[in-house]
Amino acid sequence: MYPENNTTVENENIEEVKKDNILVCDGLVKLYKTKDVEVMALQGLELEIGRGELVAIIGKSGSGKSTLLNMIGGLEKPTTGKLYVDGNDLFAMPEKGLVEYRRHTVGFVWQNSGQNLFPYLTALQNVEAPLYFENMSQKKRKEKALSLMKMIGIDHKANSYPTQMSGGEQQRVAIAVALAHDPKILLADEPTGAVDSKTSNMIQDIFRKINQETGITIIIVTHDISLANKVSRVIMIADGKISTEKIMKEQYRQQLDKLTTESLAEVESHEEYSILDKARRVQLSQEALEMAGIDSNKVRVEVKDGKIIISK
Ligand code: ADP
Ligand code: MG
Repeated sequence: MYPENNTTVENENIEEVKKDNILVCDGLVKLYKTKDVEVMALQGLELEIGRGELVAIIGKSGSGKSTLLNMIGGLEKPTTGKLYVDGNDLFAMPEKGLVEYRRHTVGFVWQNSGQNLFPYLTALQNVEAPLYFENMSQKKRKEKALSLMKMIGIDHKANSYPTQMSGGEQQRVAIAVALAHDPKILLADEPTGAVDSKTSNMIQDIFRKINQETGITIIIVTHDISLANKVSRVIMIADGKISTEKIMKEQYRQQLDKLTTESLAEVESHEEYSILDKARRVQLSQEALEMAGIDSNKVRVEVKDGKIIISK
């Protein structure tokens, strides 16, 4: 059940890839051992994310999304494999560097807004909280927190306590909190998991706006496929591995701002790509195999007119 060790076919271009991307996951494996069961939450996951990208990683419950996100956040160590952030091997860093990384490089938004906010602080105080450890005057701190809240359209709730706000409002404050220390990467775990679809849409728009206005890299993990509509790069995760990737069609991207939510669902937004791994393997879906009438484990592979054809 263990994936083959791919390090022998290590990509010679890894140095280039590491430089060009803010994040590179190289053969990430995570094995959880409990008393009598072993769960392999990540099974040799490969992923590259460029600076300033907004991506959604979508998969069913148990597919390894939170494990991956926590790893990117420096909270969970891989069993094997490497994670490079800005070209640096994250888990080769001394503990002090890792703490620094968690504090400054990444910002987290969790599904449960209760996990994001202090209940006894107002919205504004919550957004200011991460700045208490920075060398910053009280006035500057307040200005910064308010300008973030303004960008996210939640400044009118500055003096409200979390219990006086709706779930969607709390989540918007949580986004401002996560941005307060100017992280390079914003990580969100099921940020729309606990709100209705209208609020979910609004939160998606906020992520897009923040991405466009600040250029921060944003990674959202979710089981909610509707999130794919507004994100240009959608990565599908299954059984601890990336299965396919959907890239938004340019024509659709240009229309996005004009489309209403209802018309969005009717337009073919993305093109789906399979992932070619480092060992040059591609996973074929059961559906595709059935449609091609392939029912054994032997397939014919030929190149014809510049295309690779896989047949029975
Ligand atoms: P997702 O976020 O996609 O629902 P997770 O990353 O939380 O998936 O979990 C992936 C798999 O790893 C699941 O089978 C889950 O039960 C298991 N898992 C996650 N965390 C732990 C843990 N701390 N101990 C044991 N198993 C875990
Ligand atoms: Mg999860």
